[in-house]
Amino acid sequence: MSNREISSILEEIGTILELKGENIFKSRAYYNAARIIRYYPESIAEIVRKGKLSEIKGIGEALTKKITELVNTGSLKYYEKIKNSVPPGFLNMLKIPGLGPRKIKILYDKLNIASISELEYACKENRLLALQGFGKKSQDNILSGIKFLKKYYRKHLFNEAIIEAENVKEKLSSIKDIIRLEIVGSIRRKKELIRNINIVASSNDPEKIIRHIITTEGVKGGFTDGKSKIIYSYFFTDISIHLYVVPDDKFPYALYYYTGSSNHIKLMEKRAEKFNLKLNEDGIFRGDSLTVIKDENDVFQNLGLSYIPPELREGLDEIEIAEKGEIPELIKNEDIKGIFHIHTIYSDGSSSIPELIEVASKKGYEYIGIADHSKSAFYANGLTEEKINQQHKEIDNLNNKNNNFKVFKGIECDILPDGSLDYSDDILEGFDFVIAAVHTHFKMSERGMTKRVIRAMKNKFVTMLAHPTGRLLLGRERYSINMKKIIKAAKDYNVIIELNANPYRFDIDWRLLKYTKTKGVKIAINPDAHSLEGIYDVNYGVGIARKGWLESKDAINTYTLNEVQNLFKEMKK
Ligand SMILES: [Zn+2]
Ligand SMILES: [Zn+2]
Repeated sequence: MSNREISSILEEIGTILELKGENIFKSRAYYNAARIIRYYPESIAEIVRKGKLSEIKGIGEALTKKITELVNTGSLKYYEKIKNSVPPGFLNMLKIPGLGPRKIKILYDKLNIASISELEYACKENRLLALQGFGKKSQDNILSGIKFLKKYYRKHLFNEAIIEAENVKEKLSSIKDIIRLEIVGSIRRKKELIRNINIVASSNDPEKIIRHIITTEGVKGGFTDGKSKIIYSYFFTDISIHLYVVPDDKFPYALYYYTGSSNHIKLMEKRAEKFNLKLNEDGIFRGDSLTVIKDENDVFQNLGLSYIPPELREGLDEIEIAEKGEIPELIKNEDIKGIFHIHTIYSDGSSSIPELIEVASKKGYEYIGIADHSKSAFYANGLTEEKINQQHKEIDNLNNKNNNFKVFKGIECDILPDGSLDYSDDILEGFDFVIAAVHTHFKMSERGMTKRVIRAMKNKFVTMLAHPTGRLLLGRERYSINMKKIIKAAKDYNVIIELNANPYRFDIDWRLLKYTKTKGVKIAINPDAHSLEGIYDVNYGVGIARKGWLESKDAINTYTLNEVQNLFKEMKK
C-alpha cells in the first residue's frame, strides 16, 4: 500500500470526524498524520513491517495500531465503521466548492439535508436565506457550486489519475501470469481531465487473471464479462479502473483500440470499409481472416496512414493529415532546455533561488526564469520595488558565479482592471522578461476582459501572457475572454502565450494550440512552480503541448540559452 493511499484514508477519517462534530483535536490528529505520511520520503508500509512506525513524530499509539492494521490487511475496520456512521451523501457534499464539514453539519442539524440533491432543492426553495451563517450570497454560491460539480462529476485531474494508474500498474505487475501491461485510454492520450483508468494486460489465461482480481482484498466493484474485461476500483479511491486482459498476440492491437478516443476509432472504422476491411474490438479483418498486427504502426499502415501518436487521436483532423503523411514530429521532454515562471520565497513560493538552480541544473536545464508576484498581489506577498532590487542583486551575484547556467530576472505582473500594469515602465524595463497576468476582477464582460488584457499586451515590456483564461480545472470556470482576439493580439504585439503546466490550469487549452501555432505565435511551457516539486509539472505541460500538435520549435523553452537571451533582447526593442 502506498503512502498516498494510507494518507487519503487518514484524511477521510479526519473529515468524517469533523462532519460528526467530534472534538476538533481528534480530526486534526488525523489530518496531521495524513500530511506527514503523504510526504514521507520512505515507504510507510516498509516501516510498518520493520515495526518502526511509532518512531515517526506525530504518529501516536492509536494511529500506529490503525495504520498497521491497514497495511497488513489492506483494510481498516474503524474506517469502515465510521464511514457508515454518516449519511453517504455527506462526502459528496464536501466536493461542492466552498462547503466544508462545519457547514454541512449545520445544514444537516437544522434542515436535515444529507445529500447534494436535497441541498439543491433547499437552495431553490430559498431555505438557506434565514439560516445562520448562510444567506443569499452563500446560497447562490452553493447553487453554482452544484452546477459545476454536476458538469465535472467523477472527473479527476491528470496528475492524480496518472499517479493512481501507475500505482495500479505496479500492483498488477506483481501477478506473474501477466505478460505485458500498459496504461491506455485518456491518460495515454494526455487528456486534461480523466474519468477512468484504462489498462491493457496480456496473459495466456485471461480468465484466470480476472478471477484473481475479483477475489483480491481491497478490490470493490468487479463488473466483468467473465472473459477479458473487468471494471473495478480499490476501496480507498473512487476512480474506476477498466482492465482488459487479452491473449499476448492480441496485445499490440488492444493497445491501439483501448487507447481510443471513441471518436478516433469511429473514423478509423469508417476508413477501414474503404479498404474492404473491418475494424472492431477484436482486430482488423479481411472477410473472416484476422490481419496480424505486430505493433501499433501496423494498424495505421493497413489503412494507408502514417503513425499517429496517441495524444493526437481525438477524431479531429489527424486522419486526413496522416493520410498526407504530414503528422509533425511532436515536442518531447528532452527538448526542454529551461523554464520560466517560477515563484520563490520572495513572494509565495517555498524555495530559494539557489535551491531552484540546483534542481534545474540537475535536470539538465541551461536556465530558469524567476517570476514572483507583483506588488498589488498582497495576498501572495507581491514584491515592493525595494524587494525587486534585493532580488536582482542576488540574481546578479549568482549569475556571476555560474558560467554555464543563467537565471533570468522576471516578474508575474498583475494586469489591473483597466488593463494597466502593476509597475511603471521604468521598473518593468529592469526585468529580462515580464509575464502579464489577470488575478482579480474575473467577472467582467467578454468585451471588457478582452480589451483589458489586450491593453496590457500592448505594453512593450510585456513578454508573455500568463494562464490566459484563468480557469482552475475542477475548481473554477474560465473567465469570459475572446481567445481568438487574444491570439491575434499576441501576434500583432509580439507576445508569447503561456501554456501553464500546472495540472489545475493547463491553460491555454490544447484545443487552441494548433490555431496559435498556425498564427505564428510562440508558446512558453511554464510550470508556474511554487516549490521545487512544482518544476516537474513541466513534463505534464509537454504532454498537453503534444496534444496541441506543438513541435519543438514552437515552444521558446526549447531554445538554447543564447537564443533565449537574444529573443528577450529583441523583444524589448
Ligand atoms: Zn498567476
Ligand atoms: Zn504564477
